[in-house]
Amino acid sequence: MRVGCPREIKNNEYRVGLTPGSVREYVAHGHDILVESGAGAGIGADDNAYRAAGAAVARTAEEIYARCDMIVKVKEPQPDEWAQLREGQILYAYLHLAPDPEQTRGLLASGVTAVAYETVTDDRGGLPLLAPMSEVAGRLAIQAGATALQKPNGGRGVLLGGVPGVLPAKVAIIGGGVVGLNAAKMAVGLGADVTILDRSIPRLRELDDIFNGRVNTRYSTVEALEEECFSADVAVGAVLIPGAAAPKLVSRQMLAGMKKGSVLVDVAIDQGGCFETSHPTTHANPTYEVDGIIHYCVANMPGAVPVTSAHALNNATLHYGLLLADKGLKALVDDLHLRNGLNVHKGRITNRAVAEALGYEM
Ligand code: NAD
Repeated sequence: MRVGCPREIKNNEYRVGLTPGSVREYVAHGHDILVESGAGAGIGADDNAYRAAGAAVARTAEEIYARCDMIVKVKEPQPDEWAQLREGQILYAYLHLAPDPEQTRGLLASGVTAVAYETVTDDRGGLPLLAPMSEVAGRLAIQAGATALQKPNGGRGVLLGGVPGVLPAKVAIIGGGVVGLNAAKMAVGLGADVTILDRSIPRLRELDDIFNGRVNTRYSTVEALEEECFSADVAVGAVLIPGAAAPKLVSRQMLAGMKKGSVLVDVAIDQGGCFETSHPTTHANPTYEVDGIIHYCVANMPGAVPVTSAHALNNATLHYGLLLADKGLKALVDDLHLRNGLNVHKGRITNRAVAEALGYEM
């Protein structure tokens, strides 16, 4: 198959659908790879790195869309891009169609077969192509919290790990899923005093085993949330209720009970945020203050570390990308989890949740 990787054109997107390492794998499977010039610039991979991996380099995205059977990219196609997709072509990317009727209409009109990273599943009920970005965001959350906690950045001026003779900072992590686990690893690594709150007791048991007593686990009630937030130097919002907006677990009123200069990092901001006072921010201006509490609410946290994020994403997407390239549409017939990723095919929506969200018949 001829597989194409265009340069990402969405604002501030530096990741790339295929790293040179992924290109080598596709080439080893006998596929022809066409990469747009400059596609890897954001991760420090120049055109020669792609040529060395066995790809041909195209001058324009138009060439890629016109010549390739399958398009591998990161973000949902933009209007210029969906106009170039066509029937018989496979698109493999993050799509997030449910809140995006305009893009959905564009993909339906194109006739393309679109497989969305975010709805591919695994045997454990997880979303394996979404998880790596939660890992990145969870780890970054602690770096962001530690930085915001510094006095020149408006914080209380506390070092997460303390020093011998001085207590470490307290970190409360609300939601112990993928983001929460990764945040806890970083916070523990820096020597903080960490508590994870969750509504799932089996999950709290797992976390207790993973950390072997090095973190506190706590069932998430209003009382527990208040106590933990009031004593925290950094609170990380990492809850998810699949398919729903994040619940507002910390009200504005609760801020009055928190220590001045403490930091809220709302990773769940992409689902609306779990603190009442959260609103989305950008990497250019990531924090703001409400009632003396610093808020960090960047909606695309992995964008700050595109080298790590692009490699983590490629690790997760490669297996199914190769199946699609090797077998074409038959890969979707053979593999239930990949089929769950199929969102659009020949002008029809093929994912029930997406169809219901947008009011389409399936
Ligand atoms: P996950 O499903 O792995 O974990 C969510 C956890 O929240 C679960 O363990 C669940 O039991 C727990 N939970 C639900 N309700 C709760 C409550 N009331 N109190 C405490 N815990 C509760 O999800 P995840 O992959 O860790 O993602 C968490 C959030 O981070 C999601 O909203 C996701 O979209 C977001 N995210 C944001 C970014 C970003 O750049 N801002 C990047 C990646 C993920």
